[in-house]
Amino acid sequence: MPMSDDMQLSTKNHDRDAVGMLYVYPVVSRRAGGVSVGINLNPNNACNWHCAYCQVPDLKRGVAPEIDLIVLHDELHCLLADIVDGDFMLQHVPEACRKLCDVAISGNGEPTSCSQFDAVVRVIVDVMQSFHLSVPLRLITNGSYVHKQHVHAGLALMAEHHGEVWVKVDSVTDAGIQRINGVSLNQARLRQQVEAVAAVCPTWIQTCMLSWQGKPPEESEITAYLAFLQALKSDAVDIHGVLLYGLARPSMQDESVYLTALDAEWMAMMAERIRRQSSLDVKLSL
Ligand code: SF4
Repeated sequence: MPMSDDMQLSTKNHDRDAVGMLYVYPVVSRRAGGVSVGINLNPNNACNWHCAYCQVPDLKRGVAPEIDLIVLHDELHCLLADIVDGDFMLQHVPEACRKLCDVAISGNGEPTSCSQFDAVVRVIVDVMQSFHLSVPLRLITNGSYVHKQHVHAGLALMAEHHGEVWVKVDSVTDAGIQRINGVSLNQARLRQQVEAVAAVCPTWIQTCMLSWQGKPPEESEITAYLAFLQALKSDAVDIHGVLLYGLARPSMQDESVYLTALDAEWMAMMAERIRRQSSLDVKLSL
């Protein structure tokens, strides 16, 4: 699940099934000033990672279930028709936010764990094209399935159709990744994943920084993270920038008791350090 900015659902129920659909949900982003159409490939709340800050309730380890591509097509077509040609905006969206910002593959688990990922992207692209949409098609991912051929194919298709990937890098140390992302992964492998994504589709790094038991990340953690970004830049890995998030919404995991948001001053200082050391563009969301 992505770290969102101040996204909230546009309907009264703050659940992904607020419009009664299995895979498709609308959100209003006040910060982006528009509506995002989300695609949730993990209605089973299953992910191969377990991020301490994850906002998915009843998160469990696993992969996306088989997707009914016809239902996905029909739901996306129905919601986009309501947004583009119907009265969805008038009925549900504040006046200042009545534009479509993107279609985002981002749900209650890791979307690329879906064994039909390439077919899913094909369906989304076809429906978007039927409405002549040129908004970005975004994928929010932890990057861990990028080496699979069907995921690579899906990313390549996205790249041909306004695709953009936000790939998660919260820590680059073994201990940090284990603590924040709940997964055993080393830096070399993380780098391979980021490189593999960036080689196929325009890519941003997405990072969440938070305070654990009242303490900000150790300086050694920050130094390693900055060096990782700097190496990407100096090795000409095509990264468009860094999306730096604070703890915007409460975690739904047991680890939530350890977590608090870092203050705005600390986050701004971190954003500036990233800019200075890596020369990457940084967008900060608190
Ligand atoms: S990658 Fe992390 S934040 Fe995203 S769904 Fe999985 S556990 Fe949650």
